[in-house]
Amino acid sequence: MLVVMKSGATDQEIGRVIEAIEAAGLKAHSMPGANRTAIGITGNTGAIDSSPFSDLPGVAECVRVTKPYKLVGRELKPERTVIRIGDAEIGGDEFAIIAGVCAVESREQTFLTAAVVSEMGCKFFRGGAFKPRTSPYAFQGLGEEGLKILSDVRDQYDLKIVTEATDEPALDLVERYADVIQIGTRNMQNFSLLKRAGQARKPVLLKRGMAATIEEFLLAAEYIMSEGNYQVILCERGVRTFANHTRFTLDLSLVPAIKRISHLPIIIDPSHSTGKREKVIPLSRAGAAVGADGLLVDIHPYPERALCDGPQALLFDQFKDMVAQVRSIAAIVSGEEKKITKQTK
Ligand code: PEP
Ligand code: MN
Repeated sequence: MLVVMKSGATDQEIGRVIEAIEAAGLKAHSMPGANRTAIGITGNTGAIDSSPFSDLPGVAECVRVTKPYKLVGRELKPERTVIRIGDAEIGGDEFAIIAGVCAVESREQTFLTAAVVSEMGCKFFRGGAFKPRTSPYAFQGLGEEGLKILSDVRDQYDLKIVTEATDEPALDLVERYADVIQIGTRNMQNFSLLKRAGQARKPVLLKRGMAATIEEFLLAAEYIMSEGNYQVILCERGVRTFANHTRFTLDLSLVPAIKRISHLPIIIDPSHSTGKREKVIPLSRAGAAVGADGLLVDIHPYPERALCDGPQALLFDQFKDMVAQVRSIAAIVSGEEKKITKQTK
């Protein structure tokens, strides 16, 4: 259930509703919006009796949520969620480009890459310190040493750091060093890790499981939000299909499908989905055209020597071309979206 407050409801009135929800042994999730605040209720196993809340001052109505997810949905929050970290944002007006290395291999490789990301005016740097590898014999990442290199990148270039936590001990470290905690495709249904991410006070970039339905994906985000962390960025990174011309199939249709249901920002990963450099720029363009809020892309100073995912890493010049192309497409899309919003108002 969600309790929708009147548009002029005061902080005291909202506080009183939250107290009443908690007194009933339930959890309250207050979501302030442009016109009104709604309070989502979780922690119930059966139907909730609305009578203790519906007559409280400032309450407009109590609405039953019929969907399996409550906090990710637009019923609770009709406005889009914008994740803000300093001067950087995801889900706002600017198309967010999160670029960097697949794995932090050395200080030199990471800094060479960060210099280009910064030169292009991108605000986020990605790099894996804990790598979830298919083979146990493949490079597993530099661990905390890699996080320290990333942290130095932030100090030098003022880039926000996005890096993956593969398990709970890694998440403890990532939370300390990074700006955004990434949960990878293989962990999308690692529920204890999702709950731990929900207790973190940093945004979480959640990748879609490679065989997850939209509902499973949204429920994974719900796990994080139900713990009180509402800063979730969704990422479509390709799903497993019969196609063998591409590593995974980037499901671009997920972007408008998510936007219809959820207020959370959604970005695409043209690198891990295709696994092939020559497909990265066309799919980046397509991602911007379909209305994604940004993208996550691998680049490398010398991909032929990369310890992880070299074949998909863009060369620096290709990256620069891609950024220019994607920005102009995103600008057209956001202009068109604004026009449509105005017409439908
Ligand atoms: C990554 O982004 O480095 C990664 C391992 O991605 P995915 O979880 O999508 O495979
Ligand atoms: Mn990778």
